[in-house]
Amino acid sequence: MQVSRRQFLKVTAGGLAASSMGVLGFLPSEALAEVRQFRLARAKEIRNTCPYCSVGCGLLMYSLGDGAKNAKAEITHIEGDPDHPVSRGSLCPKGAGLLDFIHSPNRLKHPEVREAGSNSWTRISWHEAIARIARHIKDDRDANFVTRTADGVTVNRWLSTAMLTASASSNETGILTQKVMRSLGIVGTDAQARVCHGPTVSALASTFGRGAMTNSWVDISNADFILIMGGNPAEAHPVGFKWAVEAKKRGARIVVVDPRYNRSAAVADEYLPIRAGSDIVFLGGVINWLVANDKIQWEYVRAYTNASYIVKEGFGFEDGLFSGYDAAKGQYDRSSWNYEFEADGNTAKTDPTLQHPRCVWNLMKAHYARYTPELVEDLTGTPKDGFLRVCQHLGSTAVRDRVGTILYALGWTQHTVGAQNIRSMAMIQLLLGNIGMPGGGVNALRGHSNIQGLSDLGLLSTNLPGYLTLPSEKAHPTFADYIAKTAPKAQAPGQLNFWANTPKFFVSLLKWFWGDKATAENNWGYDWLPKWDKMYDVLQVMDLMHNGKVNGFIVQGFNPLTSFPDARKTAADFAKLKYMVVIDPIATETASFWQNHGEVNEVDTASIKTEVFRLPSTCFAEEDGAIVNSSRWLQWHWKGANPPGEAKTDQEILAELFMAVRTLYAKEGGTAPEPILNLSWPYKNPLEPTPEELAKEMNGRALADIPDPKDPAKFLARKGEQLPNFALLRDDGTTMSACWIFAGCWTQAGNQMARRDNTDAGLGNTPGWAWAWPANRRIIYNRASCDPSGKPWDPKRNLIAWNGTAWAGADVPDFKVDSPPADGMNPFIMNPEGVGRLFCTDKLVDGPFPEHYEPMESPLGTNPLHPKVVSSPAVRIFKADRERLGTHDQFPYVGTTYRLTEHFQFWTKSVRLNAIAQPEQFVEIGETLAAEKGIRAGDWVQVSSKRGHIKAKAVVTKRIKALKVAGRTVHQIGIPLHWGWETVARKGFLSNTLPPAVGDCNTQTPEYKAFLVNVEKIGVA
Ligand code: SF4
Repeated sequence: MQVSRRQFLKVTAGGLAASSMGVLGFLPSEALAEVRQFRLARAKEIRNTCPYCSVGCGLLMYSLGDGAKNAKAEITHIEGDPDHPVSRGSLCPKGAGLLDFIHSPNRLKHPEVREAGSNSWTRISWHEAIARIARHIKDDRDANFVTRTADGVTVNRWLSTAMLTASASSNETGILTQKVMRSLGIVGTDAQARVCHGPTVSALASTFGRGAMTNSWVDISNADFILIMGGNPAEAHPVGFKWAVEAKKRGARIVVVDPRYNRSAAVADEYLPIRAGSDIVFLGGVINWLVANDKIQWEYVRAYTNASYIVKEGFGFEDGLFSGYDAAKGQYDRSSWNYEFEADGNTAKTDPTLQHPRCVWNLMKAHYARYTPELVEDLTGTPKDGFLRVCQHLGSTAVRDRVGTILYALGWTQHTVGAQNIRSMAMIQLLLGNIGMPGGGVNALRGHSNIQGLSDLGLLSTNLPGYLTLPSEKAHPTFADYIAKTAPKAQAPGQLNFWANTPKFFVSLLKWFWGDKATAENNWGYDWLPKWDKMYDVLQVMDLMHNGKVNGFIVQGFNPLTSFPDARKTAADFAKLKYMVVIDPIATETASFWQNHGEVNEVDTASIKTEVFRLPSTCFAEEDGAIVNSSRWLQWHWKGANPPGEAKTDQEILAELFMAVRTLYAKEGGTAPEPILNLSWPYKNPLEPTPEELAKEMNGRALADIPDPKDPAKFLARKGEQLPNFALLRDDGTTMSACWIFAGCWTQAGNQMARRDNTDAGLGNTPGWAWAWPANRRIIYNRASCDPSGKPWDPKRNLIAWNGTAWAGADVPDFKVDSPPADGMNPFIMNPEGVGRLFCTDKLVDGPFPEHYEPMESPLGTNPLHPKVVSSPAVRIFKADRERLGTHDQFPYVGTTYRLTEHFQFWTKSVRLNAIAQPEQFVEIGETLAAEKGIRAGDWVQVSSKRGHIKAKAVVTKRIKALKVAGRTVHQIGIPLHWGWETVARKGFLSNTLPPAVGDCNTQTPEYKAFLVNVEKIGVA
């Protein structure tokens, strides 16, 4: 008998014995006879998702204990899920070590406190921990809450306690965090996204309308050409990378451009070196080459981009500065960076002939004419012939039937020009007609397993769920201002302009926050939300802490001491806090920043008066919930065992803390109690909201019968029903939804995120596996995969098409399904003009076109393109951090940080298997520099920057070549991330001691990828 795995699961009782036969190469028919009783007897098989990177590989967990009396569930084995459409049973070294993560000796088991000045942890009860933290919160909030500004705007914000939120916790934890945090008035908050993919959101949203990876992991296999630049997916996303290898097997070419010959380069067709921080020179050079050589997908560019849009008079660029620069403020007035509008003030003027001197096409052409191949070679160190080959590869996709894609990650984001690096590539993909296409897109490879989800849920200083903005005191002092300014008007006739629906999303969100207390009379509780005056990103919060203005820091599933730049300064600033609360499954350096660990953390413990609470939380294997992979798939996972000791879920911890604070306000009164007392808290057990309750709230439900506008006798949803999608959301208080883009994830038909049908509907699309936002669309902007008449550009890549009455196909159309091509609606439905932006108007603070600026610490000390404007003129840097910048005469080499396959950030150093694989800190030094410095492989070296030093073993390598740049030799030093003192590996220094505290101009993501260091030999092998 031949049976499929699915049939096999059916014939075996309850799925028991559905083991890793596929992985081991057994056919299910053979496997029937080969059940490994030793592992599976009385075991349950549970589906889960790897909690490390954003590939989101499927796991099968085997849990001992079948529910019988006295049988304690314990995870005994984990392997890859062979049914998973992306991972297909594979796991990388991190996923393969997950069992050791669950059972790590560094798991926290009991609440503990480190009293002021103490040198040890003291175990305390949950009751004491919650009561003491709630008291801190109330006292600090009451003393420092800002209710109104001097000019009378209600702002209800609390800045003296800040919060960081987790990157691997579930959406359900994330949304509860959002609810609790905003009710307290916290604005100084960020998730891991701030230090990793923040610029992606800015760059892609300002170009295409949404800030997410455009395509999916499996879809990478549909590409004809893959450029890997600003990332190293073979190392950082190993299982996702298999789809690039799959594309190669089908004939695609892969080129890697990177400072190091890395693991992705090892399987590429070609590798080109580049100086860290010079990517815009390279990409600007590509734009210039494409224009000069007429490698443009003209039909696409004319129809689907703003090439023909006329820019306002007054816009200009000269000597490194765009129009509107205010040198005193270090900021631009962006009013000249916009279109010229018709008399109605909304409709942008265009010149379809592309002759107008101020049309986007001509401005773009002139801007990049300076980026010649010779300049590219001179400033990047990349050989000109290799650069030209990349141009030719990319140019070959400027046709209907060839498609290229880009895979990037933090190598582009972690720069002062991070958003503009990505914008450059987004422009290239528009010029080539590669957006919306299967095998195309801009594939932002997210890092952490749920950082996509937590970004979606608005866990960033000035965001709300679904990429709504938190109200600003200047722009939105009233509800009416918010509605008027966040719902744009269409800038071209007949466009969908989807953000026009903002009031429906926002009012539904406010109904989630405040429930029945949110009424039309009180503007749905608008004033109970905090309002911001400026962005309180992590660098801003650390500067406030530096200046003694932050008393409390709540840190959930984050390790900022190892993650924020300039670790020494960070540690000194933590010592100024009154209290810190760390919620985490494992011990972190942040929680023990006060502990002296010799030279890796040389601190005076007794002088540090911060009271630190360490609260043990569950890990992925011990909870239900969903996380969102890089392809925007919300994958539900199931609990396999209870956590160790007294650890609790984040939801329980947050709920207990919130209820304790609420009780204090109810009993004692205090400052601005309304947002807390009125917060909707409809959970069956108020001390433990369930993942199901929270997931259903994110989807949203009808609060009244929703009549069908086409037939008032019918209803689209009845009161209390889960909504089928966001189209039913209303702005009259009759619907609620905590995150409009997730509407559809848990409908009346049940939990769509739990679906596990891996049927390929075409081109690798598996619409029945989990659920993707928005509306289960797998490739966003997919209307652009068809020509204006509605036919696929490439018949081989038939994803959707107009069938005469509707758009339909293998994917859910990212478009109005009944809008015929003749109506002229354009594919970028989130943009008011409906087209992709080559010129991104006033959306970014540092220019509508990307321009090359040197890193803040430049090895050249000048910018040959415009010597008077060396680094980005729009950069924000605080005085204390500017004083800690080094110069190339003292620190002559370029440092750049990166991740290893065997480790995930700072978690896997607590995991035995990974500690064995990579036990010790090292840095990579090129052979030429090593010879100059007398350094041999295995020697001890000290790498120092203006901010401190680390000591590590030297790996002397051919992988990093010395580059000739602007007439001088530039050496680069590779610095892996993963060490610290809370570890089962060897203790190591914090690599983030070295980079400066300065961020991307738009999002403040720190510049970890290009900074200045020195290196000295300090010991022999
Ligand atoms: S770390 Fe990433 S690639 Fe590795 S198993 Fe986990 S999800 Fe897959």
